Amino acid sequence: MGNLIKTVVITGAGKGIGRELSLVFLNAGWNVVAFSRTESDLDSLVEESRQLKGSIHTIIGDATVSGDIKRLVSETTQHFGYADVLVNNAGVFKSIPFLEMTEDFFSDQSKANALSTFLVSQQFGLQMKTRKAGHIINIISVAAKRPFVGSVGYCSAKSAQDGLGKVMREELKPYNIRVTNVYPGAAFTNSWAGSGVDENRLMKASDVAETIFKVVNLDDNMVIEEIVLRPVAGDL
Ligand code: NAP
Repeated sequence: MGNLIKTVVITGAGKGIGRELSLVFLNAGWNVVAFSRTESDLDSLVEESRQLKGSIHTIIGDATVSGDIKRLVSETTQHFGYADVLVNNAGVFKSIPFLEMTEDFFSDQSKANALSTFLVSQQFGLQMKTRKAGHIINIISVAAKRPFVGSVGYCSAKSAQDGLGKVMREELKPYNIRVTNVYPGAAFTNSWAGSGVDENRLMKASDVAETIFKVVNLDDNMVIEEIVLRPVAGDL
C-alpha cells in the first residue's frame, strides 16, 4: 500500500526553480526532501516553509558525487520511506564562446546538468522499479531544442540530459514509472542576477514551479511527456 502523504525529492532545491518547487509541494502538504550544496540556502528554506503544511528534510550534497547521492537515497528512505516523485532540477548555466571553451568548462557543465540526472535517476529508478510506481521530472531547457550563441557547453549538456530523459522514459515505462521532460525558457532566478535583463521580461520561477506541480497530479495511467514553457515575448 502506498503512503497517504506523498514524497518528492528535489535536487538543487536551495535557490531558483528548485526552491519554488519545494515551496509549492510543501504548501500542498507533501513531504519534501530538499537537496543542494549550500547549507545556508537550505536553512532559510526551512525557515520560509515553517507555516506550510508539508514536512521538509534537507540534505547538503552535490548531485554529481555518487557518495552524496547514496546518502540522499538512504536519508529519504529513513525519513519518508521512498520517493513518489524525483525532480532533477540541479543544473548550472555558464556562457562562453565555443572557440574559447576549455575541456574543464565543458566537462563541468556536462556533469552539473547531465551526469547529475543520470546518477540520481538511476538510484531512485531502482527503488521505483521495485515499487512499480514513480515519476521522474527532468528540468532541461529550451537550450536542448534550439541553439543559443555562446552557450555551447550548456546546449550540449541540456541535449544530453534530454536524450537521457527520453531513453529513461522508454526503459522505465514497463515498470509504471512516468518520465516528464520540462523545457523552460528564461525564468528569473539567480542564473539571471546581474545580467541586466528586465525581470518582467522573464517568467517567474514560482509560475514555472506551479506548472510543474500540475503534471504530478494526473490520473495514474497518464503522463505528460514534455512541457515547453516560454515568456510570451519569446527567448532572449
Ligand atoms: P539557480 O537559481 O542557479 O539554482 C540552482 C540550484 O541548484 C542552486 O540551489 C544550486 O546550489 C543547485 N545546484 C547546482 N548544482 C548542483 C549540484 N551539483 N548539486 C546540488 N545542487 C546543485 O538555477 P535555476 O535558474 O533555478 O535553474 C534550475 C534548473 O532549471 C537548472 O537545471 C537550469 O538549467 C534549468 N533552467 C533554468 C532556466 C532559467 O532561466 N532560470 C531556464 C531553463 C532551464 P548551489 O548554489 O549551492 O550550488
